[in-house]
Amino acid sequence: MAKITLDNLAHSYLPNPTSEDDFALKELNHDWVDGEAYALLGASGCGKSTLLNIISGLLHPSQGRILFNDRDVTNDPTTKRNIAQVFQFPVVYDTMTVRDNLAFPLRNRGADAAYVAQRVQQIAGMIGMEDMLNRKARGLTADAKQKISLGRGMVREDVNALLFDEPLTVIDPHMKWELRTQLKSLHHEFGHTMIYVTHDQTEALTFADKVVVMYDGRVVQMGTPQELFETPQHTFVGYFIGSPGMNVLDATVTGDKAVIGGHEIDLGHGFAPLDGKVELGVRPEFTRLATGEAGLPVTIKRIEDVGRHKIVRADFNGSEINVIAEEGAEISPDMNRIVFDPAGVNVYANSWRVAPQGA
Ligand code: ADP
Ligand code: MG
Repeated sequence: MAKITLDNLAHSYLPNPTSEDDFALKELNHDWVDGEAYALLGASGCGKSTLLNIISGLLHPSQGRILFNDRDVTNDPTTKRNIAQVFQFPVVYDTMTVRDNLAFPLRNRGADAAYVAQRVQQIAGMIGMEDMLNRKARGLTADAKQKISLGRGMVREDVNALLFDEPLTVIDPHMKWELRTQLKSLHHEFGHTMIYVTHDQTEALTFADKVVVMYDGRVVQMGTPQELFETPQHTFVGYFIGSPGMNVLDATVTGDKAVIGGHEIDLGHGFAPLDGKVELGVRPEFTRLATGEAGLPVTIKRIEDVGRHKIVRADFNGSEINVIAEEGAEISPDMNRIVFDPAGVNVYANSWRVAPQGA
């Protein structure tokens, strides 16, 4: 197991990159703490696989270094890095049995037969394939083959890190939950450094201790699910995480007041003068409907009852503001204002969060 350090790392698939736009992965300095479970979360094309393949050695970065426990491995091939990687689609040996597929990484390293037998049995239990150990992989469903791939990724106990690149894409929804739980228990049991790539926030938030959010080739925030919820460091994090995501509104900010479309809002904290595009971000959970004169004037468009609570879609000057209301809350047609809880208001300049003065 290892701490993984990314030092000045960047990658472009072009031979002669000229601008930042040419980089699939923009310059990155980052430590992955030994033994933590991370989720790498972001939309398709933001650079997740690029980063993972650089860590495993499938891809050589155009700039910077990768260190395992402070040792430079940038020029080491995948085999020397001692990493297990599971991909989106199954990688199995069709002519081998399920048992031999699972045993392969262990036998390859010269593990003794008794240990191999016992470990394969244990992993087969985790992926629910004990009954199929003697079957050839050929002819199994994509789902079953992907479970074998997962098993092969998990079978070695001595790896530096376990990397999963959207491994549950082809798995049916019911089994997804089950396998994610198994991965979590594997982490508790062995304490491997794990990086789990996904574009699904639920998967990320339920799997990981720390979620690393990527946007357009950059890591925009790394934090606990609570930090991502309470203080999104970038408007993308606010918008991408949450259901619905954070409300983001153009504003001007002077001291401890914001003005949105001519309406003043008390921020509760003072801010230094801000440059560039200024926005307020307020999650629907910190937004409520009111009647009267205070707050932003809105019209209610739609109410969705999602069981645990209601989502109210309101219109403010042509843009949508979402409100989460308690399941039992009365929502009357004369509710014509939206009020923000100051504790839940974040201020952004050029999409990055600005901390209030004195914070
Ligand atoms: P993700 O895994 O988050 O979906 P990727 O790391 O696969 O994103 O891709 C990041 C960017 O790099 C995308 O714009 C993608 O088109 C580009 N890219 C990925 N692989 C290659 C490649 N082999 N050659 C050229 N461009 C690539
Ligand atoms: Mg990918």
